[in-house]
Amino acid sequence: MLIAGAGPVGLAAALELARRGFSPRIVDDGTGPTPLQESRALGVNARTLTLLSPSGVAERIVTDAQPIERFRVRANKKILIELDTREVKGRFSAICALPQGSTERLLMEVLSTYGISPEWQTTVIAEAISDPQKPEVTLRRADGALETVQLDILIGADGAHSAVRKALGAGFPGEALEAYFYLADFRYAEPADAHFAEISLFDPGMVGRLPVTANIIRYISTLENFESRIVHPAAIAEKTWVSQFRIHFRHVEPMAKGNVFFVGDAAHIHSPAGARGMNLGIEDACWLAWLIAEGREQEYSALRIPAVKQVLKQTYGLTRLVTMQRPLAVVARNFFAPLLLRFGPIRRTLLRSVAGYDTPKPPWIDWAE
Ligand SMILES: Cc1cc2nc3c(=O)[nH]c(=O)nc-3n(C[C@H](O)[C@H](O)[C@H](O)COP(=O)(O)OP(=O)(O)OC[C@H]3O[C@@H](n4cnc5c(N)ncnc54)[C@H](O)[C@@H]3O)c2cc1C
Repeated sequence: MLIAGAGPVGLAAALELARRGFSPRIVDDGTGPTPLQESRALGVNARTLTLLSPSGVAERIVTDAQPIERFRVRANKKILIELDTREVKGRFSAICALPQGSTERLLMEVLSTYGISPEWQTTVIAEAISDPQKPEVTLRRADGALETVQLDILIGADGAHSAVRKALGAGFPGEALEAYFYLADFRYAEPADAHFAEISLFDPGMVGRLPVTANIIRYISTLENFESRIVHPAAIAEKTWVSQFRIHFRHVEPMAKGNVFFVGDAAHIHSPAGARGMNLGIEDACWLAWLIAEGREQEYSALRIPAVKQVLKQTYGLTRLVTMQRPLAVVARNFFAPLLLRFGPIRRTLLRSVAGYDTPKPPWIDWAE
């Protein structure tokens, strides 16, 4: 059994398989886990914590992470929407913030207790996989040595440009938004309020504010010169990371062919609105590991596709809502959104999706979430 890619999703797959008695190999063409200062994913939702609880990773995440207690949307300095995530009752808080690199290190720590570590600088070479029932791939190690492996199961957790997906000739249909998004992480000289996330809507454009750690805040914007709009909560010590990216909405269907399975970004990508990407991928990994242990892995795609489509649709809607530019639509949004969220059922539905509770509950978890 081989897992291609040791991002958060590949690591979660390896760990869930290991704790069920399997010994998968996990390879990655990088040199190590995501650098701590370059973390894409931050939000870890309650569903992910539920899934990572049997392995003991959830409790480690909770110890290190910042719970996000409130979400605000502002327009022209007026608060349009305020959501208190503590309304979602359960064992874990609805969402907390931890840099992706830290989550990966915690997964690796527990995985190593099963004697499994990622083989770094080992690339799965994208060649055509002619027999997906008995997949065969070539691995290239750092010293250039090549190894051909024949597998009973191949898990493609190798990200958006997945070599495994391409080797199977599977498409990745969808669309890309025209706009670029810009990101900057600032470390402050003293702790900032790290317990809330906020979106400020301008005319045009938006700036999102998300906690990374107690004294690092991330800002994401549709405006290239957005830094002039930031109201810094304390003196800046350092700008720790800047990046820019385009948002794609794509997914592969089906999510498996023979004994080759796609998980995480290899299977679906969408906007970071709602902080679902890594969470949905970890959910894929946990479902696949359970199905493999049950001998039911051929059900994987049919079980995961509805959840994937639902999250893609939802993040598409959220992204359109915060990036809309047509003046009439903006006026309508600013008027109706606060009214709608006064209704308990609508607010609760939104909060449940923040917690990741809007996809099917994992059947192997026997306690209430
Ligand atoms: C700005 C931004 C913010 C985000 N915020 C959030 C958030 O708050 N919450 C959330 O849930 N998600 C978020 N996401 C999405 C999240 O980062 C991804 O969904 C997540 O990283 C996917 O994990 P993965 O393991 O599937 O893929 P990746 O993290 O891309 O890992 C894939 C791994 O495969 C390896 N690899 C690639 N090709 C090969 C090969 N041929 N051979 C061997 N190894 C290979 C790579 O080196 C890499 O380590 C965000 C994304 C962005 C861009």
